[in-house]
Amino acid sequence: MHIIDRIYIDGAFVEPHGDQWAPLFNPATEEQIGTVRLADAHDADRAVAAAKRAFPAFSNTPKEERIDMLHRLHAAVATRASDLIDAMREEYGAPSNFIDFSAPRAGNVFLEMAKTLESYDFRRRIGSADVQMRPSGVTVAITPWNSNYGFICGKLSAAIAAGATMVIKPSEMSAVQTRVITECLHAASLPEGVFNIVTGDGAVVGSALTAHRDVSKITFTGSTATGRRIVRTAAETMKRVTMELGGKSPSIILEDADLDVAVPQVLAAGFLNSGQACIAGTRILAPESRFEDIEARLREAVKDFKAGEPNDKSVRIGPMVSQKQWDRVQSYIRLGREEGATLLAGGEGRPEGLSRGWFVQPTIFTGVNNDMRIAREEIFGPVLSLIPYRDEEDAITIANDTDYGLQAQVFSSDITRARRVADRIEAGRVILNGAQHEPLAPFGGLKQSGFGREFGVFGLEAFLEPRAVLG
Ligand code: NDP
Repeated sequence: MHIIDRIYIDGAFVEPHGDQWAPLFNPATEEQIGTVRLADAHDADRAVAAAKRAFPAFSNTPKEERIDMLHRLHAAVATRASDLIDAMREEYGAPSNFIDFSAPRAGNVFLEMAKTLESYDFRRRIGSADVQMRPSGVTVAITPWNSNYGFICGKLSAAIAAGATMVIKPSEMSAVQTRVITECLHAASLPEGVFNIVTGDGAVVGSALTAHRDVSKITFTGSTATGRRIVRTAAETMKRVTMELGGKSPSIILEDADLDVAVPQVLAAGFLNSGQACIAGTRILAPESRFEDIEARLREAVKDFKAGEPNDKSVRIGPMVSQKQWDRVQSYIRLGREEGATLLAGGEGRPEGLSRGWFVQPTIFTGVNNDMRIAREEIFGPVLSLIPYRDEEDAITIANDTDYGLQAQVFSSDITRARRVADRIEAGRVILNGAQHEPLAPFGGLKQSGFGREFGVFGLEAFLEPRAVLG
C-alpha cells in the first residue's frame, strides 16, 4: 500500500495542514493500492508564499543558469524512467504504447525548452523603445490524471525557462505518479520555492490557488467546464490564463486517401491514451463514395486494438481511470444506441474475457449524424463516431461544426489538396497523413478547446509579459 502523506513546499517534503485522505486505485484490478493525504487552502497559501519569496531572485537568474537547471531537470527525470513507468502502469493502467512515449517525453520537454531558451532574446528594440520580456510572477499549474507527469513537466519547463516560480496542483487520482516525479524534480536541486507541488481536491486547493491575489498566471489542462470556472475566478484579479481543454477532433479521410495508411492511423488517433486524450480523433469523416469499404476496413482493423491488462505488450487500450469515468463512457455507449447510431464494433460492458477492471470495449458507431450528442460531446473513452460526408465542402463543414477546435487530421494522397483542406479547418493543430510529432510546435486549441499555446517559443512567451522602456 502506498501511503502518501507529504506535499512539496519550499524545497522540502512537508506534512500537509489538510487532514482529509483519499483512496488510490489500480484501475486494471479495481483494488485499492494506497491513500493520499490531501492539501487544503492553508497549504495552498503556504505554497504560494514560498513561490512568492523565491520569485525576485529566480526572475533575475541569467538565462545560462536556467538552461543549466533545465538540463539538470531532464537528467533527474531520465534517471528514474523505470519508476515513472511502473507508477503510471499501476495507478493509471496505461499500456506500453502510451507509457513508452510518455516517460521519455516527460524528461525531454526540459531539453526542448532549453533549446528554445538558447535562441530566445529577452530584449528587443522596437522603434525608440527597449522592450523586455519579463516573467509573469507566481504561476499556478492545475493538471489532470490522463498524463500526470507529462503535464507537470511540460508546464514547469516553460515556467523555469521564463524565470517564473510555480505552484502545481495535480489530480489526487495520480498521487503515486506525482510522488515519483516530485522526487525526480527535487533531485535537480533548484532553488527553494521555485516550484511547489500540492496534491489536493480541485474544489478546495484548486479554487484557493485560482483565487489567490499573489498568483498572476494560471495554466490549466482539463475539462472545459472546470476551465470556464477557473477563468471566471481568475478574472477577479486579472490573472493571465492558458486553457488546454477538451476536444472532439475530426479525422477526415478524403476520397483519394490511401486507406492502408489512413485506417490504422485514424484508429490510433481515436484510441490514443485509451481514448482518454483531449486530442483523440473521435469523429471519423468518411466519403459516401467509399463508405462501405471504410466501414469494412475499420471493422477489421479494430481487432488490432486489444483492450486489457497494461502488462500485456499486445494491449493497446488500458482501463478508464476510475469507476466514475467508466460509468460515464458506458452511458455514452448507451446514448449512441438510443440516438439511433449503429455499432460497428464494441458496445456496452467489459471486453470479452475480462471480469474486473474499468475496461471498455473499443467501440465504433457508424451512421452517425454530426448533430448526435455522441458526435458533439467529449466522451473521453475509446468510443468513435463514423460520419459520412458528400464532398470536400461537406467534410469541411462537418469538421468545423463543433464547439471544439483542438486538433484535426486530414488524409489524402495529394498533399496540396490535404494542405488546402487543412487551411480551412478550425483547429490549433492539423496533422496531414499521420505526420510525426513536432515537440517545438505550438500546442493549444481554438473555440471551446481553450486559448493560449504550450511548448516551444509560444509556450515560453505564455509565461512572459512585455515591458517597454522609452527614452
Ligand atoms: P477536471 O477538469 O475537473 O479536472 C482537471 C483538474 O482540475 C484536476 O486537477 C482537478 O482536481 C482540477 N479542478 C477541478 N475543479 C477545480 C476547480 N473548481 N478549481 C480549480 N481546479 C479544479 O476533469 P475531471 O477529472 O472531472 O474529468 C471529467 C472530464 O473532463 C473527462 O471526462 C474529460 O472529458 C475532461 N478532461 C479533459 C482533460 C484534457 O486533457 N483536456 C483531462 C481530464 C479530463 P480534482 O482532480 O481534485 O477534481
